[in-house]
Amino acid sequence: MKKVLAFLLAVAMIASVAVLTGCGGNSGQTKETKSGTDKTYVIYSDNAFAPFEYLDTKTNTYVGVDMDLMAAIAEDQGIKYEMHNEGFDAAMGAVQSGQADAMIAGMTITDERKATFDFSEAYFDDGQVIVAKAGTKLEDLKGKSVAAKTSTVGGEYAESIKDQYGFTINYYEGSDNMYQAVQTGTDIACVEDFSVIGYAIKSGEVKLEIISDQPANVKGYGFAVQKGKNPELIEKFNAGLANIKASGKYKEILAKYGY
Ligand code: GLN
Repeated sequence: MKKVLAFLLAVAMIASVAVLTGCGGNSGQTKETKSGTDKTYVIYSDNAFAPFEYLDTKTNTYVGVDMDLMAAIAEDQGIKYEMHNEGFDAAMGAVQSGQADAMIAGMTITDERKATFDFSEAYFDDGQVIVAKAGTKLEDLKGKSVAAKTSTVGGEYAESIKDQYGFTINYYEGSDNMYQAVQTGTDIACVEDFSVIGYAIKSGEVKLEIISDQPANVKGYGFAVQKGKNPELIEKFNAGLANIKASGKYKEILAKYGY
């Protein structure tokens, strides 16, 4: 019964939107409509998470896989948006408080997060690794502090293994602060997504080494909105993602950042 009611309500809403927007006739450019097509979405992201989002100091703009994916999908779907690169924890908070409509920030899709977020289809897979100065062994973590990033699955992973290895955890807002803490010796190691630290090591930006065997908890990254909010945006993101996969644009974007 509830389902039938919900369905009828949905039909009624679509019908009213169709009337408001003059759907069915080819009315040309959309005007201010109740369907939200003209809305400029506020999207938040991380700010130091290469190759997904980072500041290109030459152009003073944020670039990366997420930035390019969002631009390509928005172009494909006619989505208007403004991007705010404020950090991962800030992005989570902005979406949860309704200050932002969505986030794209190398965000891992987890069951726990699904309680408060709705996610797109996964667009990349990754897991966490432990990183330290060359020559450090996992046994060396005992009695030391390990750096983790606030609100991330890396932090959750660190929490899950800290008793086994006997370390404490220091939290940092940014990945860059975390690497710095390990390089200067404040913390003996840090936990980070494999692709991200792999990129930083490869580019020579970070002089650290992956000391764990395999990326742990490998899962998909998704674009996210607050649970129950902006469902049309998730639909458009998914449709656009499918289109740019089919057109080869998705592959082109990943290749640009070395994948
Ligand atoms: N993938 C990790 C997470 O979702 C880290 C994301 C990030 O730091 N931008 O928790």
